[in-house]
Amino acid sequence: MSTAKKRNGGYVVDDPTPRAPDRVITGARAWTGVRAGVVKDAAVVIRDRSIAWVGPAPLLPSEYANMPHEDHEGATLLPGLIEVHAHLGGFAYEYEPNVPDPDRLNPGWHALGSLTTARQLASLGVTTVQSLGAKHFADVALREATELGLVEGPRIVASGPQITTTGGHSWATGGEADGIIEIVHRIREHHKAGVDTIKVMATGGFGTYGSAPWNAQFTQEELNVLVAEAHRLGKNTAAHAHGTQGIERSVHAGIDLVAHGSFIGADGKTAFDPRLADEMAERGTYVDTTSPPSFPSVPGETTTPRAKDLFDHGVRLATGNDIGAVLPPSGYIFTLHELEASGIPREDVLLAATSNAAAAAGLAGVTGVLGEGYSADLLVVNGNPLDDLDALDHLDQIIIEGHEFRRDPVEPFDPSAPRHLSGLHQHTPSGLDARTVWVERQRRAAHHPGV
Ligand SMILES: [Zn+2]
Repeated sequence: MSTAKKRNGGYVVDDPTPRAPDRVITGARAWTGVRAGVVKDAAVVIRDRSIAWVGPAPLLPSEYANMPHEDHEGATLLPGLIEVHAHLGGFAYEYEPNVPDPDRLNPGWHALGSLTTARQLASLGVTTVQSLGAKHFADVALREATELGLVEGPRIVASGPQITTTGGHSWATGGEADGIIEIVHRIREHHKAGVDTIKVMATGGFGTYGSAPWNAQFTQEELNVLVAEAHRLGKNTAAHAHGTQGIERSVHAGIDLVAHGSFIGADGKTAFDPRLADEMAERGTYVDTTSPPSFPSVPGETTTPRAKDLFDHGVRLATGNDIGAVLPPSGYIFTLHELEASGIPREDVLLAATSNAAAAAGLAGVTGVLGEGYSADLLVVNGNPLDDLDALDHLDQIIIEGHEFRRDPVEPFDPSAPRHLSGLHQHTPSGLDARTVWVERQRRAAHHPGV
């Protein structure tokens, strides 16, 4: 399918992405991305970029019998993993370019950093990445470059800069808007720039000077308009919300995905709100798994303690880890282990990382499931991740839209390494409540505007 594409710049290019090879992949089993979706002695048929058939190999329809077969003995076939909360250009800030005026490099620097982060994630088996905040619409550029085959990487769902209040959380990313008219205008600008999803900073955060995580940044009316306008334009919505006030307003506005969902009360201490969680479960609001540890911190707690509380109330979880802002891409698989350690059953962790995450990113029916008509985004792993998530470290193949992804080397993730400490534990020096942590973070943020 080599249809010509007209680009915005006025020139026309043929779709340069080569047709993916048709083939049959077999393994000891497939886990299809739905509950109890195990197929023993499984075969997956890939035709071009889509899955044409999934089932037990002995039942393979005769029309596929003559296609090239790849047999992976003892392996599990499963949908590619998904990250719903990345800041792809974030780690570009860790490195200062060696030129007199680094600011001049900002858009290019951001784009190159985004490509690197996206490829690192793909190298771990993450075949779809939702960007929830990017300067200069670098995420849209990356999505386009990937779709055109100029670069190889995961499928990108792009938000552009987060919509925030003037001087509000992550204002430096470039999405300030105050009041209903400006919010609507900002969404339409984002639409014009080609975003897929609208990310709003519903509360303050830890990384921006003068921004308090427990306070909502927008009124109920403003959030209602934001969600309605985004939905009118066919875009998904996601809200950064640490404070309970902002979570509640986002949920009432009909937001699709809450990021963080930390339940920080007005006093700066964590207080899980079971009533609000029940409401989220009822409405089908997705919550990502990047809640920071409790305030005050609880010894021995995992990095995502709120996920278990939400899970127990039937809230739909999607794996999103603030990759690029809080965690480096190499930490993705570690976070799945943390979810399991928090008490969430292994299959539910995998559901959060596949079909749930796809739905949370507006891709239900597109990816996250091994099923007929879905995009051929899948992993071949040695071993069985339903028995042990460590199997995810033994990737045999990563297939993105029917093409095998050629991996970059990824530095092993060490949660205790100093570089990662700043991210993982940025919210949690032990014994301090959120206000104390915040004051400390403010000092740092004043010299380092958050992403
Ligand atoms: Zn974030």
